[in-house]
Amino acid sequence: MLWLCTLGLAQASPERILDYTEVVLSHGPRAHDQPGEHKTLAWVTERLRANNYAPQTVGDPGVLFACSGGEAQSGALWFLAHTDAVHASVPGAIDNAVAVAALVVLAEDLAAVPPPSQVCVAFPRAEELGLVGSRDWVANHAPPEPGLVVALDLVGQGQLSATGLGPLWGDEALTWLAQHREVQAPVAYRVVSRQLGIERSDHAPFAEAGVLSMHLLGRGRSGIYWPYHSVQDDLSQVEVPALDALHRTLIRMAHARPLPSPEPSAALILPMLGVVLPGGLVWLLWVAGLGVTPVAWRGWKAALHGLAASLVGCLAGGLAWGIAGWGRPQAAALATPLTLCWLLGCCAVLSAWPKQERAGQGGALAFGGLALACGLFDPIMGIWLSLGALALAIGKWRPLVGLLGAALPLYLCAPATWRELVFHHLLPGQGVWYLPLRALVCWPLAALALAVPRWRWAPLVLAGLCGILVGVTRFLPAFSTAFPSLGQ
Ligand SMILES: [Zn+2]
Repeated sequence: MLWLCTLGLAQASPERILDYTEVVLSHGPRAHDQPGEHKTLAWVTERLRANNYAPQTVGDPGVLFACSGGEAQSGALWFLAHTDAVHASVPGAIDNAVAVAALVVLAEDLAAVPPPSQVCVAFPRAEELGLVGSRDWVANHAPPEPGLVVALDLVGQGQLSATGLGPLWGDEALTWLAQHREVQAPVAYRVVSRQLGIERSDHAPFAEAGVLSMHLLGRGRSGIYWPYHSVQDDLSQVEVPALDALHRTLIRMAHARPLPSPEPSAALILPMLGVVLPGGLVWLLWVAGLGVTPVAWRGWKAALHGLAASLVGCLAGGLAWGIAGWGRPQAAALATPLTLCWLLGCCAVLSAWPKQERAGQGGALAFGGLALACGLFDPIMGIWLSLGALALAIGKWRPLVGLLGAALPLYLCAPATWRELVFHHLLPGQGVWYLPLRALVCWPLAALALAVPRWRWAPLVLAGLCGILVGVTRFLPAFSTAFPSLGQ
C-alpha cells in the first residue's frame, strides 16, 4: 500500500506535468533529429540523473531509457513516450510532449517511493517516421525483459483509454487492467487489435514480438483528437483533469501487483461496468444465441421483410442524406445532423411498410444471422447480437430485452463510431459506403419495427420532418465541423 503514500505527492503532479510539457515545447521544433528533439532528450536525461537514475541510450536512433532500482528483472513494466513530433511546424503538445512530461514526473515520484517490482521509462525516437526507434530496439537490444509495455501517445486530453489489447490479453491480464477504473477499454478497439492487429504506436513492435503490450491514449467526445498532426496541437489543447487521471493511473500501474503471464482468451471489459467478462463466457453467450435462433424459424417471412425494409429505408435515408449533404465534404456524412436526416428517412419507410406477423421472431432470426457473421469474425462482436436472439427467441416477444441486442447496431450507427473507424483507416472516407453497411446492421431493428402498430399518418409526418431537417441542414454552416479535414 506504499503507493497510497505517493498519492499525496501525486496531487501536485498534474501541474508538474503541465509545467514540464511547457518545458518540452520551449525546446522548439521536435521533428526527428531537429534541435528540439535533441534538447528534449538532454533535458529528460538531466531530470533522470537528478533523481538518481542511470539513464542509458541504445540503438540507432537511440532509445533513452532508465529503470527503477534493483537488478534487471524479467517481466518489468515498461512505459514508452516518443520524443519526436510529426513535423517542424507541429508543436506536438498532445502528440507527444505531455507523455514525455508524464513519464519524467512518474520517474520522479517512483524515485521518492520505489515500486515493488521493476518499472522502466523509455523515450523512443522517430516514432512518426514509422516506429523506427522502437522497431530497432525490439530487433537489436535486450534491456530488462519486458512483462508489459505501455506506450503513451495522445494523452493529456479526453478520456483515458486502453487500446492495443490484442490476442495476448486474456481473463487475468484484463482483470489486472480493470483495476484501473479510470481507463476505458473500448470494445471495438479490443476486436480490432485481436483480429486485425492494427497498432499505430510504439507498442506495435513489442506486440508483434509476442510481448504483452498496450497503448494509452485520450479519446475526446468524438473518439478522436481533432488537432492530431496539426499546428493546433499546442498547450491550449491540454486538459488538466486528463493529466490528473493519467498520473494516478501510471502510479497505480507501477505499484500494482505484477501481471500474471499472458493467457490468451476472448475476454473483454464490459463498457460502463468495468467488469471483466471471461473469455469462456463470451463463447458460451455467442453459441447460446446461435443455438436458440432456429427456434424462431416461423419468423422467416418477417425477417426477410425486415431486411428488405432496412435496405429500402437506408436508400431513402441515403437520398435525404445526399440532398442535405450535396456539395459538402464527404466527411460531412459523419456529422450528426446528416445522420438524423438519414434516420428519419429510414423511419418514414419503415412506418409505411405493412405490419408483419411474428416480427419478434423475425428480429430473432435477424439477430442470429448477424450474430453468426459477426461472431465468426470475433465472438466479442457476436455476443451483443446473440443477446438479442436469446431475448426474442425464448418465449414471447419482449421489446425491452430485445433492445439489449440493439446495442451493437445503435453503437455502429453513431456518427462518432464511424468517424473513429474512418480515422483509423478501417472504413473508406466516402460516405456512400455507410449506407449498405448501416442497412445490414439495422436489419434486426427494422424487423422489430414491423411489429409496431401502424399509424396511417406516420409516414407522412416522418417524411415531412425529414424534409424540414434536410432544408435546415443545407443552411447549417458548421454541420461538418465534426471532422473538418477527414477525407478531403
Ligand atoms: Zn504520437
